[in-house]
Amino acid sequence: MSEAAAAGRPVMGIGACLAGKAVRYNGQTKSPNDHVRGLAEAFELRSFCPEMGIGMGVPRAPIHLVGIPGKVRALDVETHSRDYTDQLAGYAGTVLELAPELCGYILVKGSPSCGYDRVKRFADNGYGIASDLQGVFAAALAKADPLLPLEDDGRLNDPGLRESFVTRAYAYHDWKQVCSSGLSAHTLIGFYSRYKYLVMAHHVPGYQKLGRLVADAGKQPLQPLAAEFIGEFMASLTQRATLRSHTNVLFHLAGYLKRTVPAAERQRLKDLIEQYRLGHIPLVVPLTMLKHHFANNPNAYIEGQVFMSPYPDELKLRNLI
Ligand code: SF4
Repeated sequence: MSEAAAAGRPVMGIGACLAGKAVRYNGQTKSPNDHVRGLAEAFELRSFCPEMGIGMGVPRAPIHLVGIPGKVRALDVETHSRDYTDQLAGYAGTVLELAPELCGYILVKGSPSCGYDRVKRFADNGYGIASDLQGVFAAALAKADPLLPLEDDGRLNDPGLRESFVTRAYAYHDWKQVCSSGLSAHTLIGFYSRYKYLVMAHHVPGYQKLGRLVADAGKQPLQPLAAEFIGEFMASLTQRATLRSHTNVLFHLAGYLKRTVPAAERQRLKDLIEQYRLGHIPLVVPLTMLKHHFANNPNAYIEGQVFMSPYPDELKLRNLI
């Protein structure tokens, strides 16, 4: 286990060129955007360059993707005589072996090795046909660990995708921590108990299915149950939370204050939630008011809810309208 993982800080993989290393085919780096830079504060970044990793060196002949879907190869642009496909795909397994603690990976937009999607595809004669592929390494990484959250630097410009990515990465890190401490029916139930409202905000059918799965903990063999659970859990968090779904959760949480907070203050909170539902204020506003009330009226169950703080507040992902 790396020092960062041991310290409990989530470890995020990143394309080495985005992390400031001069590893591109021409010996250059790729400038990370502000959003990628911002994530460096919340994660321990661990960089990998698949093309360097398979010994292509720098500078090197550039490669591109050639062929028809299902039979695409990563070939050198100049001659199409050198095929790097299998080695680049195999490097995904190397990355997961070198860093089993990874909780997410920031890919590199447009790269034939590291692109998340819409990577250019070329015909044998070198003409561009379409932009409809994942990079070879990226596709292999997604296949080797389907739970691992993936995005690229371009897609992270989208606030919704960015928030979803960070939420899933922190949750996956949490799951790995629970597993490394020894998974049992008890810890599985405890894990889901903390995530109930976060999952509800993302996907109500997933929330219901996960509830049924967890109810079987202790009655069914643990490993297959846990595998089904975490697959469904990560898939549920992949669904985008909306104003409506967040509002639903906020009202559920406000319900816990019924007996402890005076009616006038609860009405003020309700008004803020309504303002949020209408899109007039960001999520952080009613949430801050909720946190204030729960600070004055502690509730251990709500305190443990990941929904209240799924990632460091400094990322300000809940401050946008
Ligand atoms: S995109 Fe990937 S393969 Fe290309 S230089 Fe960056 S890290 Fe290396």
